[in-house]
Amino acid sequence: MALFPFANWKGPVPNRTVNGMVRPLRGLILHIQEGTEAGTNDWFHDKSSQASSHFGNPKHGQIDQWVDTKDKAWAEVSGNPYWISLENEGKSGESLTSNQIENAAQLLAWLHTTEGIPLQITDSLEIHGLGWHGMGGEAWGDHLDCPGEPIKAQRHQIITRAQQLVGDNSTAHPTLRLGDSGDEVKHLQTLLGGLPVDGEFGAETQAAVKNFQSRNDLTADGIVGPDTWAILLS
Ligand SMILES: [Zn+2]
Repeated sequence: MALFPFANWKGPVPNRTVNGMVRPLRGLILHIQEGTEAGTNDWFHDKSSQASSHFGNPKHGQIDQWVDTKDKAWAEVSGNPYWISLENEGKSGESLTSNQIENAAQLLAWLHTTEGIPLQITDSLEIHGLGWHGMGGEAWGDHLDCPGEPIKAQRHQIITRAQQLVGDNSTAHPTLRLGDSGDEVKHLQTLLGGLPVDGEFGAETQAAVKNFQSRNDLTADGIVGPDTWAILLS
């Protein structure tokens, strides 16, 4: 049983798979409701919709929870067992309100603390973190406009606030250099683009980092510290 302590419990809904989540969880996925929180609540309680999400994020007020995080919500098709879903009130192309950013950051901080989800952006199914519905492509139902570009871009604000909430700014993005490997290197390679996302910080990645640093008026030392991370994530 896992209910987010700051949520209004609005479940259970019929559209869910009891005990369907597979751990470790991979991250939190942002969606857009293309409608209102109240309308989405009705939709998820309607068995014929065959749809749900774990959480809902209204423009004003507290987060709602429809599905316990031990259960699988029906939001991202093949991604459902691994990712927690957050439906944001509004339409694709709109931005989140400051209330929604705060709510999402609170939820992400809780998932970081209780489930070990890293406080980082992801655009790849291989990398754990804060993702978005369309990143799953066809396997996730081909919702490429969910939640829309402005909200995708606001993810760094959510991450920054979640880092404040959990108080681990320094460990969220470790300094990376030649010879390092792992998920954070994959994250770096995804952000740089044009590289194989293999999680190995080799000569090719180092060259791409130096190139990125030169273009952004940073010292081109090939070492990814706080200044380089800040621009990569902006
Ligand atoms: Zn969606």
